[in-house]
Amino acid sequence: MKIFGIVDISTIDYPKMCSAVVFLSGCNMLCGYCHNYEHMLDNTRNIDMSPKEVFDKIDLIFADALVISGGEPTLQPEGVKELCKLAKNEGLAVKLDTNGTSVDIVKDIIDNKLIDYIALDVKCGFDKYEKIARYNGSIIKKNILEIINYCISNNVFIECRTTVVPDLMDKQDIVEIAKTVKDCNLYAIQQMDCHHSYTEEYQKMRHIKTDELMELGKIAEKYVGEDTSIIIRSNNEVFKVKTGK
Ligand code: SF4
Repeated sequence: MKIFGIVDISTIDYPKMCSAVVFLSGCNMLCGYCHNYEHMLDNTRNIDMSPKEVFDKIDLIFADALVISGGEPTLQPEGVKELCKLAKNEGLAVKLDTNGTSVDIVKDIIDNKLIDYIALDVKCGFDKYEKIARYNGSIIKKNILEIINYCISNNVFIECRTTVVPDLMDKQDIVEIAKTVKDCNLYAIQQMDCHHSYTEEYQKMRHIKTDELMELGKIAEKYVGEDTSIIIRSNNEVFKVKTGK
């Protein structure tokens, strides 16, 4: 499998747990705000290793969980499955970050009881997907609904998350997204980090303020179910908007 990074200890990638994070190479979307796209194109950073070699390279001394991130990890399904198995054998909780393009692979990992937590990107209103993520919005909407339902019925924690693109998104995007993700366990609205964005267009965008994100959180609150929590993730803090039952 191909990876472009390992972080041995993170306190922000798995709620309430210290985790190690592995970043898998390759992605089938292209988001202007991506922090990792440049790294994925850098051949010196992308290394081919077996899942066992990757796992053995992680210093697990402080980690209670493994986060499999990217890129889009599901583009390397066998590697993801093997990493999940290795982590489970060590008694770690496992989280997968995904953009929602591979429903069958997510279902397979759930069916094999290899995953505890899925963080699913919901980029924007679905008619803007082509512009913001270079992917078909109707396909992704169907996938997102399927993944949420599958997680809920199999007791896998499902977080949906939206990074707000200041110049291209508005309240209407959040209304549409909140209606779609209304059954998830946690909905996170995230601040875009212009400075580390992939394209110049995004680097020049205005900085969205935490107050504006809180306002979007309040809008989302009207549409999600009573079990769903809502948080705002700014670049350095997390704010609670709603606690689910
Ligand atoms: S889906 Fe994630 S990894 Fe892929 S381009 Fe978008 S932000 Fe980057």
